[in-house]
Amino acid sequence: MATVPQSPRTVSFSASNIMKTPTISSASKARIAAKTPTSGGGAASPKEWTLDSFEVGRALGKGKYGNVYLAREKESGVVVALKVIFKKQVDRHAIYDQLRDEVEIQSRLRHPGVLRLYGYFHDDKRVYLVLELATGGELYKRLQAEERFSEAQTARWIAQIADALRVVHENKVIHRDIKPENLLLDAEDNLKIADFGWSTIAKHKRKTFCGTLDYLAPEMLSDGVYDNRVDVWALGVLCYECLTGRAPFETSDSVDETHRNIINMTPRYPDDVHVSDEAKSLIAALLQKLPADRMTLEQVLTHPFVAKHAARERMLDAAAQ
Ligand code: AMP
Repeated sequence: MATVPQSPRTVSFSASNIMKTPTISSASKARIAAKTPTSGGGAASPKEWTLDSFEVGRALGKGKYGNVYLAREKESGVVVALKVIFKKQVDRHAIYDQLRDEVEIQSRLRHPGVLRLYGYFHDDKRVYLVLELATGGELYKRLQAEERFSEAQTARWIAQIADALRVVHENKVIHRDIKPENLLLDAEDNLKIADFGWSTIAKHKRKTFCGTLDYLAPEMLSDGVYDNRVDVWALGVLCYECLTGRAPFETSDSVDETHRNIINMTPRYPDDVHVSDEAKSLIAALLQKLPADRMTLEQVLTHPFVAKHAARERMLDAAAQ
């Protein structure tokens, strides 16, 4: 089993990484050409991108396999994020399948809560992903800076991700790695699901072991057979972490201890943080050990914790107009 460490607190696993050299078919190129960002809704003529099509600006962040830059597409004037991945790194880490899935899945999903992938191109050394710009950066960094979020803020983001996941699942895709590191904020503080590197087309129940330790659903750890309800579990972990600043099953002891907690433990709340009964009830409904007992994404959107804050936000929006 291949292990790809991503950061000290995150470890992802995959049994199915196959080393290949990235090549892009002419049919794929034609599909991408139709996805050129357009300014003001005007139709840009389909064209193939090269690095020359962009003015590249400052670095927005550094990823495991390359950097992400601010860039402007010259023809349309649209400002995007250009993710540059070195082919050497793709080969070295055997992540060709991951990259191909990321491109194929993310470019066809359309929802305000899913980071748009407008297209991609490549040269001798690099693959370039042309992504929607999310200037607010990673939710993870925001959480580190603020320690935890208010219930209103958390409810708003949980609603956004639940709604986006509904569309992801409707498209027969399982994300499998929902966590604050993979959620980006735009300029209006809206959350977007990014990084579809571990996602998969959900044709049937899967057995590949992947995702991030603290966010792994119990069924992935026990019999390894799972479906899209692993993303619903991860939403529960996310909600807990947003409200308390730490993941519900994490321990400093060992990986095995965290596994045991995920399978057996009911989350406890720290004494120094007030979490409302409504929030606890949502988290409990999402963190049901049996997938069949877990709340659906539709039910998340009408749960009192989410609905109360959504109604308040609508009121504030109306007052501001
Ligand atoms: P990644 O390689 O996807 O892990 O991205 C590395 C870093 O680049 C992230 O932590 C973000 O800070 C930044 N980044 C990635 N994608 C975007 C984007 N679409 N818009 C703005 N910043 C991004």
